[in-house]
Amino acid sequence: MTHYDRFNARFGAVNDVLNAVNVLNWDARTMMPAQASATRSEQVGTLTELARDIIVSTQSRELTAAAAEETAHLPETAAERRAVLQAQQAIDFHTRVPGELVKARAAQHSVANDAWIAARKANDFAVFAPHLAEMLRLSKLYADAIGWEEHPYDALVGLYEPGETAASLSTLFGALRAGLKPIYDAAIARPAPRSDFLFRAVPPELQRKFAARMSEAFTFDNQRGRLDISVHPFEVSFTRNDVRLTTRYRETYMPMALFGTLHETGHGLYEQNIDPRYTRSVLATDLIGLYAVGGTSFGAHESQSRLWENHVGRSRGFWQRHMADLQADIPEHYDDVTAEEFYRGVTRVSAGLTRVESDEMSYDFHIMLRVELEQAMLDGSLAVADVPGAWNAAIKRDLGLDVPDDLQGCLQDIHWSVGYLGSFPTYTIGNITAAQLMDTARTTAPEVIGATEAGNYAPLAGWLRDNIWRHGRCFSRDELLTQVTGRPLEIAPYLAYLTARYNQEEN
Ligand code: ZN
Repeated sequence: MTHYDRFNARFGAVNDVLNAVNVLNWDARTMMPAQASATRSEQVGTLTELARDIIVSTQSRELTAAAAEETAHLPETAAERRAVLQAQQAIDFHTRVPGELVKARAAQHSVANDAWIAARKANDFAVFAPHLAEMLRLSKLYADAIGWEEHPYDALVGLYEPGETAASLSTLFGALRAGLKPIYDAAIARPAPRSDFLFRAVPPELQRKFAARMSEAFTFDNQRGRLDISVHPFEVSFTRNDVRLTTRYRETYMPMALFGTLHETGHGLYEQNIDPRYTRSVLATDLIGLYAVGGTSFGAHESQSRLWENHVGRSRGFWQRHMADLQADIPEHYDDVTAEEFYRGVTRVSAGLTRVESDEMSYDFHIMLRVELEQAMLDGSLAVADVPGAWNAAIKRDLGLDVPDDLQGCLQDIHWSVGYLGSFPTYTIGNITAAQLMDTARTTAPEVIGATEAGNYAPLAGWLRDNIWRHGRCFSRDELLTQVTGRPLEIAPYLAYLTARYNQEEN
């Protein structure tokens, strides 16, 4: 047995423990009775701490050092060296960040989340404000412990999207805002397409039939995965051999379950197609975030869900190809609707106050305003008490809407209450990344795009597997993008895609 084998076995145990946490969390969000939540969070806390303890243990440090020496002759991009490097970075991270602070933040999550729920009931941000202020104080200490140079936000966003900072996001989002506004304004000025048929009552079991059929057509492997129901759709994996998807059903709005399923299918395909050699290894584990996941960053992951949901599922070709399947799975509901009307209905643009119900373009404005506000709260330039006013002004500026109350404004997202400061940018980074990948597929592998438009999704899945999925966490998002597209993240393909979809006359 080599030193590297022993190192790999040691960190395989970390992956096992964190996959067990994923099982507990999946259960909590799908099956668990409400009364179990207190004991369940103790269980999750204990196992997460155990994973951290294994990472920082003397034995792990020694095995990592020995494996580093043994693999030093390999190229810097070799999987073995990447695994050792990520273990070293995680040991360093968890040594630097005090366990007490991690515990204090975890305790504040549940207090602040309860306050957020109470504030939503009262429709009053003031109920949540002191708890958000405390969460910000702890998050600032956390950022300081992680370390940052220019802005405390850099430390937090780096947990979700390594390489991004407040400054890099300001450049990226500045360009996006400038490019998006005219496309959005032109799209919203056009007459709204027909959409009445989207709101027809359809029994959930029929909705499921079509959604699951499309998920399978996208190559999701149901022998190594499942589709269940939860309040908020999500994907979580317990290694590539067991990938769980969830969706939700609104009887009078079929697109919710369908696009929820297609979105989570994109996440699931990523996890199912990680190189099997990386199973139970560092390269399928976020050792810093203490989360068993094979995708390389939150933004990279979101790019795969957006790609399958929007570039494939909301394409004209998809509806031309599958309108008959929809009419077969959900008979008598859509007999008077054409494929073209369905395509136009599911790509309609309408300004809305709620992020999760937004169209593709309004969504990015929602994300950018949250990023702007959370950075300002963190550096102290925005007082917590002033958040509702700042939120409402930004919605007016970007979408031209008046926010009637906090429930439809700054109380709509769970993220800040559970300490997910810095995760919002990854949604929009996913949109930008997806467009860049599809742009490259179109020019370098046109046969893949041709097959996709004809309803054969295996070639696109194969292209993504070879270029993105199989690499797991071996390469960063920008390394992958540079390998595939020749460039790190860039905005132009995304704006070109939105222009083609929303501003061209035939659309
Ligand atoms: Zn997602």
